[in-house]
Amino acid sequence: MALVAISKGQPADALRRLAGDGQREFGENYLQEAVPKLAALSDLPLTWHFTGQLQANKTRIVAERFDWVHTLDRERIAIRLSEQRPADLPPLNICIQISLAPEPGKGGVEPAAAADLATAVQALPRLRLRGLMCIPPHRESYAEQLALFTQLAACRDRLNEAGLHLDALSMGMSSDLEAAIRAGATMVRIGTALFGERPAKAH
Ligand SMILES: *Cc1c(COP(=O)(O)O)cnc(C)c1O
Repeated sequence: MALVAISKGQPADALRRLAGDGQREFGENYLQEAVPKLAALSDLPLTWHFTGQLQANKTRIVAERFDWVHTLDRERIAIRLSEQRPADLPPLNICIQISLAPEPGKGGVEPAAAADLATAVQALPRLRLRGLMCIPPHRESYAEQLALFTQLAACRDRLNEAGLHLDALSMGMSSDLEAAIRAGATMVRIGTALFGERPAKAH
């Protein structure tokens, strides 16, 4: 299981310190903030995950500089990412974001639409479909958290039974990582529990 350090709102120095302790996987949500940080840390062998909402007019930066996108939810964005992925880089790893309980501003496709989008992504030459991701609505109890994450795992299982080959489940944040791991997460995305509270000026 991989630990992706979600470093939005953190200065490049904080990422460098964590990298010094051996952390290699980092996730960023906002491109304006991410681009200078990636440049400042380009001497380190890091893997970069894009975990924010991706607009169609910003796909090129992601295609050129990131290794993973966790939040794909539209075919149009997938097509652009594939077209813009440089030929000298390996295919861009993709997780499709699934909306388990629709919430405004969070993105994601309904589970029923996942198969069509997954099939479309799989056909694109410069993308590598890896799995599913969710940002579930906040739940206090472990049992409710587990129920939501189990839905994502079941969705992945259905797609694999239908002939896809998804090996990744990106789920679990600081407040619900235990339930996510129990339900089979292959990547947890942790910000606050690693870095402490985000500086107030950040998003
Ligand atoms: C901010 C964020 C996280 C990390 O949240 P924490 O509660 O700080 O651990 C994980 N995933 C996504 C998509 C995020 O935006």
